Amino acid sequence: MKKSIKRMLAEIEREVTYTSRLIGKSKLDPRVMAAIGNVSREAFVPPDLVRFAYDNGPLPIGQGQTISQPYIVALMTDLLQLEPDHIVLEVGTGSGYQAAILSQLVKKVFTIERIEELGIASAELLKSQGYSNIECRTGNGYDGWPEHAPYDAIIVTAAASHIPPALIEQLKPGGRLVIPVGLPYMSQELMLVEKDEQGEIHTRDILGVAFVPLREETPTNSNNGISY
Ligand code: SAH
Repeated sequence: MKKSIKRMLAEIEREVTYTSRLIGKSKLDPRVMAAIGNVSREAFVPPDLVRFAYDNGPLPIGQGQTISQPYIVALMTDLLQLEPDHIVLEVGTGSGYQAAILSQLVKKVFTIERIEELGIASAELLKSQGYSNIECRTGNGYDGWPEHAPYDAIIVTAAASHIPPALIEQLKPGGRLVIPVGLPYMSQELMLVEKDEQGEIHTRDILGVAFVPLREETPTNSNNGISY
């Protein structure tokens, strides 16, 4: 493994330790850390920011959007308790980095992005990087992706004002949804939503986060709903 990725993993571990009281654990699943160790984050950031690719911080990816902080990617992935036979939905493909991490841990990843330019670019990048179990789509993830539902796990990487009802519907009994909920760019809580075997919903606040907003309105571009 590259030295720079090792350094990033060490920084994630350090932040997990700092926040252990909030997140209820002092170490993340080693499978999640291994998955992060396997993905070249530098491939998912703009060329002029490559020197910051393994810093433990978010970075701009164009269109006013960001690639999330590695610690947050690790934590959200850990909270999903993924298994190799799982089918996962991601809302907010962005750079494709989170999808690449998920793809190491599960059977199939469906990821949906609202901004067409980002959706097409990340689909091409993921394909060129050899990730073959990820299906990308441009569209409104507020409505989920009903064709492949229900999902074992759903991850939303943009902040919503409330938990989108369609995502609860598209979650399997026993499934987990991780989503930042709150006001745009401020005072958001990362929430873990569990649907039990009886279909009852249980929610838990994990910690304060800052994400770009989840847009509720459907984009008007011509490729809406196209899969790549
Ligand atoms: N997971 C990404 C983080 C991207 S930032 C990564 O690893 O890089 C959040 C993304 O959510 C942005 O690209 C934004 O365009 C997208 N987004 C916002 N609202 C959305 C919606 N309703 N449906 C799908 N994507 C949405």
